[in-house]
Amino acid sequence: METHNFSIEFFPPKTAEGAEKLRAVREKLALLNPKYFSVTFGAGGSTQQGTLDTVLEIKQAGYVAAPHLSCVGGSRESIRAILQQFKDNGIDRVVALRGDLPSGYGGAGEFRYANELVEFIRAETGDWFHIEVAAYPEVHPQARSPQDDLQNFARKVKAGANAAITQYFYNADAYFAFMDETRKLGIDVPVVAGIMPITNYTQLMRFSEMCGAEIPRWVRLKLASFGDDSASIKAFGLDVVSQMCERLLKGGAPGLHFYSMNQAAATTALWERIASR
Ligand code: FAD
Repeated sequence: METHNFSIEFFPPKTAEGAEKLRAVREKLALLNPKYFSVTFGAGGSTQQGTLDTVLEIKQAGYVAAPHLSCVGGSRESIRAILQQFKDNGIDRVVALRGDLPSGYGGAGEFRYANELVEFIRAETGDWFHIEVAAYPEVHPQARSPQDDLQNFARKVKAGANAAITQYFYNADAYFAFMDETRKLGIDVPVVAGIMPITNYTQLMRFSEMCGAEIPRWVRLKLASFGDDSASIKAFGLDVVSQMCERLLKGGAPGLHFYSMNQAAATTALWERIASR
């Protein structure tokens, strides 16, 4: 476990109560000794200030923290200011993304794609930041084709990304096929697998629809068959996801990035199951 890159993602809490709860969750998850905690940016209506505040709290508590930074809708000036804020606070890792504009948002920013953000970060701050970017083994939902998406991923790496984290998936073969293709293109940065624990059927279906993650038919049917039986959903989810994680690590994945959804239990259970094997 120690030799792999394990990281855990949070979103910035929107209320004081949420912030209090996240402190307790963070302390539980810190026992697992992840390499860093990352904090999403601008997603789900959260504010940029929320990302910085959360990251600073994590840092003050003695852990490594990496803010996400999405560029869509932003200007060069605003992104420059955010990068400076990160630097001033000693933050030297960032997850660089395009982000998604809320529907109905008409304004176009000065950045169109994440590769432009990575280029900008390198031009402005040299090697200060360790930059992670997103990768899509099951293909980004807006991509013109899988080949085009792969080329666009390569662009982000060429622009200066050090590593990547994948969108979550439940088909390990999609990850392995993606890795074979990246190697053929000469891309050799670590691509850590993004892992979404399964705890809630309705929420999982909704998220997966939005981000283009496929829930295999047999998994979907089994989950649906459990109805409101949350304990069975969690137990089955733990089996399916932990087996996939083991396959990924055995097959060469350099690490796992857990989408914790600001909850400690599912990530801890997965981690302990994987470590016990
Ligand atoms: P890009 O790499 O720019 O790709 C977006 C699309 O454009 C793809 O279809 C790609 O094929 C295409 N494309 C890329 N470059 C070009 C180009 N030069 N020319 C033509 N087409 C191109 N969202 C948030 O809002 N906040 C977060 O904190 C956040 N964290 C995330 C963390 C991870 C690990 C992942 C996987 C996703 C995260 N997201 C977050 C979601 C992400 O913002 C969306 O998936 C978004 O739609 C794409 O972002 P990207 O950085 O992958 O974009």
